[in-house]
Amino acid sequence: MVQKTPVTAALLDQFGPTVVLTEAEAKAAYTLDWRGKYPSDALAVVRPDSTAMVADVVRLCARHDVAITPQGGNTGLVGGSVPTQPRREIVLSLERMSAVEDVDAVGNTMLVQTGCILAHAQQAAEAKDRLFPLSLGAEGTCRIGGNLSTNAGGINVLKYGNMRDLVLGLEVVLADGQVWNGLNRLRKDNTGYDLKHLFIGAEGSLGIITRAVLKLFPRPRDRVTLWLACADPAQCLATLNAFRGRLGEAVMAGEIMPRIAVEQALSRIEGLRPPMPDTPPWSLLLEVGVFDERGQINETIDAIVQDSMAAGLVQDGVIAQTSEQARALWQIREGVPEAETRAGPSIKHDVSVPVAMIPALIEEGTALLERLYPGSRPVPFGHLGDGNLHFNLCAPAEAVGDPEREAHFLAAWGEINAAFHDLVGSMGGSISAEHGIGQMKKDELARTADPVGLALMRQLKATLDPENRFNPGKLI
Ligand SMILES: Cc1cc2nc3c(=O)[nH]c(=O)nc-3n(C[C@H](O)[C@H](O)[C@H](O)COP(=O)(O)OP(=O)(O)OC[C@H]3O[C@@H](n4cnc5c(N)ncnc54)[C@H](O)[C@@H]3O)c2cc1C
Repeated sequence: MVQKTPVTAALLDQFGPTVVLTEAEAKAAYTLDWRGKYPSDALAVVRPDSTAMVADVVRLCARHDVAITPQGGNTGLVGGSVPTQPRREIVLSLERMSAVEDVDAVGNTMLVQTGCILAHAQQAAEAKDRLFPLSLGAEGTCRIGGNLSTNAGGINVLKYGNMRDLVLGLEVVLADGQVWNGLNRLRKDNTGYDLKHLFIGAEGSLGIITRAVLKLFPRPRDRVTLWLACADPAQCLATLNAFRGRLGEAVMAGEIMPRIAVEQALSRIEGLRPPMPDTPPWSLLLEVGVFDERGQINETIDAIVQDSMAAGLVQDGVIAQTSEQARALWQIREGVPEAETRAGPSIKHDVSVPVAMIPALIEEGTALLERLYPGSRPVPFGHLGDGNLHFNLCAPAEAVGDPEREAHFLAAWGEINAAFHDLVGSMGGSISAEHGIGQMKKDELARTADPVGLALMRQLKATLDPENRFNPGKLI
């Protein structure tokens, strides 16, 4: 029997049991985060199907002084999408607002409800021969509202930017239940503050984004995918720059992986095949979009590879000849995080530095982490061209499977994060490149952020959400 509180009774009374879930089993999938690090509960999970209903829910919660955690696909990696105060919070899931309302192939825009799954938005664009370029490992599950609220990155930032760069307009439900209609399709609009940017990357702390106008792009006719073997990160970076220098905007992705990451993926994810007989010290995975004839670009790519080999930047290389081969190469990259999870506990970092500093970050970061926890295994991989690495630290091999030693390793999480973030800060970097702050990095943000900037953020929060209705206990 579920205990009814005044707010759950009122929610059920107004919206009915299809919208309002109160049973523990029904709520379970919404109250545990993707990593299983922040188990929680909620008074109810509420699943509105229109902007007007979202506004009604916000007003009802205000009357009952109940807080709201907005949720998309619940794939966030920093504990931002689950409640921190289960006794006075509901989860507001956008999953029933999943429509693609319009695709404008002339104006290159798309209007979606923010519960739309990212892969569905990509498919709707493709059906009109357009590209919506945001692409990330969770794209079959994450939703546009979550992508907006975390300012998601992924593999195509190099060419298209992150989510912030892919938005023209938003509709947002504010803390007092008002609806801000900023559903702008304009490419040029200089009429004061660009309010949409307040809500993008705000992690649901300032308002609930209900609809969005997204930018579309010409769809590449084809793609060339290459796996190149390099001796060190500096060679990877020089090679990436050689490609960008000669192919410019056609280079869509540039991912770097150390040997340990590739070997973990090959040994722990079923069905993956090694791209080359010996795993190189460093691998560079490149994707080049073909917007015209493939023949011409193939010749240029061959020439760049030959030149890079002659210059000693690249030791070996594989160019996918079919889309299946290309897929197989990407599956290795996409398998890295899952393989790392299967390989035992790891301490996470999602950081960025100015791109030119990446080799120094890898060298100094690796030395620092190995010193902080002897025997541990740094695994820096990710979006080289964006200066963004997932610089994770795997437990010492001999600790894996031993609960006491694993717990000892994980107990060092905070101390290791702090020392590593200080190194990143000294290089002019960021402690969160693409995953956001959520619960996980809240204290680190408070410790490392510019105090004036932090105070401004708090003023904004107090102005837009004076009663701390939206996503309390996250971000700031
Ligand atoms: C396998 C895997 C790979 C990943 N790869 C990447 C990657 O390459 N790049 C990257 O950037 N991230 C990556 N992520 C992280 C995650 O997928 C992204 O952060 C994604 O944008 C979250 O979307 P979501 O719909 O799941 O949001 P959720 O997890 O549901 O929510 C995330 C945050 O947004 C808020 N929110 C959600 N919807 C709304 C809304 N409509 N209005 C206001 N606030 C809202 C929530 O309150 C929360 O604070 C990955 C995750 C996984 C599991």
